[in-house]
Amino acid sequence: MKEKFTIEDLLILDAGAEGVCIGKYEERVVFVNNVVPGDVVDVEVYKKKHHYYMARLLQLKVPSEKRVEPKCEHFGICGGCKWQNMDYQAQLFYKQKQVQDHFERIGKFSFPPLKPILPSDNIFQYRNKIEYTFSNRRWLSNEEMEHADELNLNGLGFHLPGVFDKVLDINHCDLHSEIGNQIRNSLREFALNKSISFYNIRTHEGLLRNIVIRNSVCGDLMVIVVFAYKDKFLEMVMNFLRVTFPQITSLMYVVNDKMNDSIADLEVHTFFGNDFMIEQMEDLQFHVAPQAFYQTNASQALKLYQTVRTFANIQPEDIVYDLYTGTGTIALFVARLAKKVVAVEYVDSAVENAKENAILNHIDNAVFYVGDMAKVFTDDFIAKNGKPDILIADPPRNGMHPDVVAQILKIMPKRIVYVSCNPATQARDIALLSSAYQVIATQPVDMFPHTQHVENVCMLEKL
Ligand code: SAH
Repeated sequence: MKEKFTIEDLLILDAGAEGVCIGKYEERVVFVNNVVPGDVVDVEVYKKKHHYYMARLLQLKVPSEKRVEPKCEHFGICGGCKWQNMDYQAQLFYKQKQVQDHFERIGKFSFPPLKPILPSDNIFQYRNKIEYTFSNRRWLSNEEMEHADELNLNGLGFHLPGVFDKVLDINHCDLHSEIGNQIRNSLREFALNKSISFYNIRTHEGLLRNIVIRNSVCGDLMVIVVFAYKDKFLEMVMNFLRVTFPQITSLMYVVNDKMNDSIADLEVHTFFGNDFMIEQMEDLQFHVAPQAFYQTNASQALKLYQTVRTFANIQPEDIVYDLYTGTGTIALFVARLAKKVVAVEYVDSAVENAKENAILNHIDNAVFYVGDMAKVFTDDFIAKNGKPDILIADPPRNGMHPDVVAQILKIMPKRIVYVSCNPATQARDIALLSSAYQVIATQPVDMFPHTQHVENVCMLEKL
């Protein structure tokens, strides 16, 4: 494109799946960030493609009625809550619409009206896990850039979208607990006062890398500090946290000398307290290991699972499959209703966790397998475990492998409950199933207020 150009008085029409809003100009879609449907804006187009323009906001001419004042001081820079400037009811409307649109445009199958999306009880402080990154090259605003040489460049906060080496120093995050904010800020202050080095992701120097803070509905608080190497400061940092925050029930550290930030494959050392956190759902208890996945919005997870249970409508003689089971929480949640539950997950440690939690809850009719769904879901597997009457699947964002869908069509369970965090791939997969199944009910659930993400549960029955 030769030159940037301006579009005046563009009406914002819709909120798109990536959280970016949409207008229309000369038959082309215009994508704009940091606006709300109903706004009238002037924008600058910086990229022109065959079917669309990418543009940035220049001026808000007429604000939409759906606009609200974002609560967060970091809004607009931090990529975490793209929709915080949109009224919560409007957020729910656009999430529901996302499911409807994907089902119509990608799915093209017939389906009864969606049930109204289940709103989140809490729209702030709903996350039970948060991870911050230390950096000695924090992101600077234009103002700060002007006197960057006088500033301390150490920061602790979130990676900025699209710039892997830049971390936004966070003073307050409304998505996690108050105690999480206090821990982050006091650890940063302590490290700055003691001149402990912050990590540099390009040169791989510096001691402090990450801090993960998790809390549970039972009141447990887990803190994991990630260091780049062992050092005299390690003990000092851990002691500081132990003394300053006696509420911490699991205080842990990891030494990560790898190039990447993932701690999934590293040993976690317990400095003080328990080596797990206790979560509770109805009368079930779960021990959650430091690296184990647990749904991040716990009270919504309960609603999600209750929806799954209602849709599954399990009878005492039913064999139930729970595919992509993670730490087995859905499998355990429904196990007592079924004759038997067969669950599959490819993360080894998650399956270990699932098995321990089955024992903890005295559930002995659930079996867990480690393996890639596309490989383990064979005729032999079915012969060994029995044909499922009911199949529950909760795949990752990219949906189910075509071989998995093909196998489902071969074994034909009477009912399928498909949980998805990506209605686009869910629509694609259901379209494949629709030769033999019909959609009976669909329930979107809001797990992540202020983001564009939507969880969706769909129930299908054999034609
Ligand atoms: N149902 C669980 C977790 C769902 S997240 C819960 O509610 O907590 C999706 C899970 O699928 C993750 O645990 C991921 O590790 C697993 N997974 C992703 N791809 C997989 C594959 N190809 N085979 C088996 N499991 C897979």
